Amino acid sequence: MAYEIAVIPGDGIGNGIVEAVEPLLIQAGKAKDVELDTTWFDWGSERYMQQGEMMPSDGLDTLEKYDAILLGAVGHPDVPDHVTLRGLRLPITKGFQQDVCIRPTRLYEGVESPLKNQSAGDIDFRVYRQNTEGEYADVGGREHQGTSNEVAVQSAVFTKKATERIVRPAFEAASNREGHLTNVTKSNAQAYGMVFWDDVVEEVSQEYPDVTVERLLVDAASMDFVRRPNEFDVIVASNLFGDILTDIGGAISGSLGLAPSTNINPTGEYPSMFEPVHGSAFDIMGEGIANPIATILSSAMMMDHLGEEDLAEVLRETVETQLADPDAPKTPDIGGQATTVDVVNDIESRIID
Ligand code: ATP
Ligand code: MG
Repeated sequence: MAYEIAVIPGDGIGNGIVEAVEPLLIQAGKAKDVELDTTWFDWGSERYMQQGEMMPSDGLDTLEKYDAILLGAVGHPDVPDHVTLRGLRLPITKGFQQDVCIRPTRLYEGVESPLKNQSAGDIDFRVYRQNTEGEYADVGGREHQGTSNEVAVQSAVFTKKATERIVRPAFEAASNREGHLTNVTKSNAQAYGMVFWDDVVEEVSQEYPDVTVERLLVDAASMDFVRRPNEFDVIVASNLFGDILTDIGGAISGSLGLAPSTNINPTGEYPSMFEPVHGSAFDIMGEGIANPIATILSSAMMMDHLGEEDLAEVLRETVETQLADPDAPKTPDIGGQATTVDVVNDIESRIID
């Protein structure tokens, strides 16, 4: 099959990583009879600083005809974070109703966790993060900072449709895995939105009698991600809590540079977008040492989504054997001295040879 892929390398380490990874994907695709035609978009913070917008106003119309989108990272030290988020990622995830953010956390052989007593295979869970509303919603201008500069108001929105759109696939995943779902909220403190969320989880749980549901408050969940990560299977959480928990996930699996992510439009009406969990990492940008594995694994999730499971599996298995090989090049975040390009070349040679 042939696919049209929109590539947005974005900012910071996203550039170097995507430049290295895109040719690998094309070559790996050829080895599996999958043709990937890529179109690059120079959208992001540089564009914002020159032209006042991160992407063109008709950007979504342009992206709509693609089969999928690969995003590197967005963020720049000279552009405020909220401008970055609202200038590119949110318009795409909201505009294309990409409600489903799946973020797997795995501790791989050959990678050391900062946690004692956790070895390869112990940590293997996936967070299903609601991706279009919750704490990241804008409610028709109700958000504001008071004119007196003494108060700011921000609401969170939970709709039944979007909540079901994350809760149901989370149950489905749990049902196909170990049958265990952890529902993370803060319904003791947020007595409207989160209680509503709990009700939706309760309702959908009726369809999955084989799945056991555990309820955890987000503070306790954060502690347990560190204390007993091996006991989690599938976690479902709101937009904000899912984001926070998956950075903890990245950290306990050895590096944020290994953590992939999806933004899936569950109806298939619009393209879905795939990107690493990490951001543009200003502290190491331009050094050529960023770990490309999160982006490769995100691309594997793209292939799963497109129905190219063989190619997805090849990418995942190769990453796994590469990480497990003590002589293979590794980037500094996981204890090596190699560059982004060294790692990508090594993975490519393992697939093509
Ligand atoms: P954002 O707001 O976009 O999430 P952030 O400020 O949270 O960005 P990240 O870019 O996510 O920061 O990075 C957090 C830390 O993890 C950085 O200090 C960075 O060095 C490290 N890091 C992130 N991604 C990688 C990577 N691919 N390879 C190596 N280190 C990484
Ligand atoms: Mg971050």
